[in-house]
Amino acid sequence: MKTTPLPEKIAGLRVNGQRLWDSLMELAQIGATAKGGVCRLTLTDLDKQGRDLVSRWAREAGMTITIDKIGNGFLRRPGRNNSLPPVMTGSHIDTQPTGGKFDGNYGVLAGIEVVRTLNDAGIETEAPIEVAWWTNEEGSRFVPVMMGSGVFAKAFTLDHAYAATDTEGKTVKGELERIGYIGDEEPGDHPIGSYFETHIEQGPVLEDNAKTIGVVTGVLGIRWYDCVVTGMEAHAGPTPMALRKDALQVAARLMQEVVACAHRHPPHGRGTVGMVNVHPNSRNVIPGRVKFSIDLRNASDALCDAMDADIRSVAAKLSAESGLPIEITPVSAYPAQPFHADCVEAVGRAAEKLGYSHMQAVSGAGHDAVYMARLAPAGMIFIPCKDGISHNEIEDAKPEHIEAGCNVLLHAMLERAGVVRD
Ligand SMILES: [Zn+2]
Repeated sequence: MKTTPLPEKIAGLRVNGQRLWDSLMELAQIGATAKGGVCRLTLTDLDKQGRDLVSRWAREAGMTITIDKIGNGFLRRPGRNNSLPPVMTGSHIDTQPTGGKFDGNYGVLAGIEVVRTLNDAGIETEAPIEVAWWTNEEGSRFVPVMMGSGVFAKAFTLDHAYAATDTEGKTVKGELERIGYIGDEEPGDHPIGSYFETHIEQGPVLEDNAKTIGVVTGVLGIRWYDCVVTGMEAHAGPTPMALRKDALQVAARLMQEVVACAHRHPPHGRGTVGMVNVHPNSRNVIPGRVKFSIDLRNASDALCDAMDADIRSVAAKLSAESGLPIEITPVSAYPAQPFHADCVEAVGRAAEKLGYSHMQAVSGAGHDAVYMARLAPAGMIFIPCKDGISHNEIEDAKPEHIEAGCNVLLHAMLERAGVVRD
């Protein structure tokens, strides 16, 4: 009998795209909405049903399950050398109220499909493989976002997370107990050798470039500010143009500068004004006070600093010209998180080897991988989603892209975990 040598067997190894797709569609039934999306808010009865289903699939694939005190789940396939830290992948299965079928769920189920594929092929890895689901990534019902991975990475404490309440006053701790997903393990007491996360891009860049795989080099840093321009309310009729202190006109110029500032810091600079309050917001009154939000993002903390300095100097100039005070107050900041070169390269090599079109990408949205990158070498794999739309019930992804991203995950994980050779 002729047997295929191991290197060839590994090179030819592919996931079962149909099985992965079917699992995604089955999980999407739990909390399915009329418009084809999913509403499965964290720590609800539906979240429990989702966790139960993923746990059942993990057990059927021969994996063991550990739950930690914040309800993160670790599904483990042992390796030959179980003293090695596991090569981990994961994401989240909670959704936004009008969420889609793929955001998060894809990352968890792609991990399960990797294990099913290794089982089918009878391949043993040197290091164990683990699939994680992280509690409350979305932050829709309970703040902060990326709660489970954040507690795990000690970005904030377990008690802080436990005390978070929803609009009905229910706490995270109470809801974890109620659905039976409060475990014994101390969050963070769990070694990670390296971490990969597959995710839909949630933006339009891959689709626009007709690429199948985004090799994610990092996650953009974020700076949030409140900006207040103070003028003077006055009657729109009797006040001649030269004698006005129109806060909105000055604010409008500064808002355009927020966008211009992003253009001055390419290719990843982003500048957004998403929230505006005009006082007194009356048709025939010159606006006396305008408060608006500023959201600046870029690929490194140095570039975020440069954008901060840029917008402040423009504001100072506008204030001097107009004679109106402009106040810019930082609200919150998230550092940029570059991914580890070893993991980024493993993803790029896998995409190349498998013959998928690919390009380097950055993530403009936060992901659990951001916190994992503080603990271990980490990387992400993006696939396109239709029109770049996510956090929407019409969120959609192509089966062939779902399959391709999972194949890249499989080969990147195998490279990091090592395959047993006799
Ligand atoms: Zn997500």
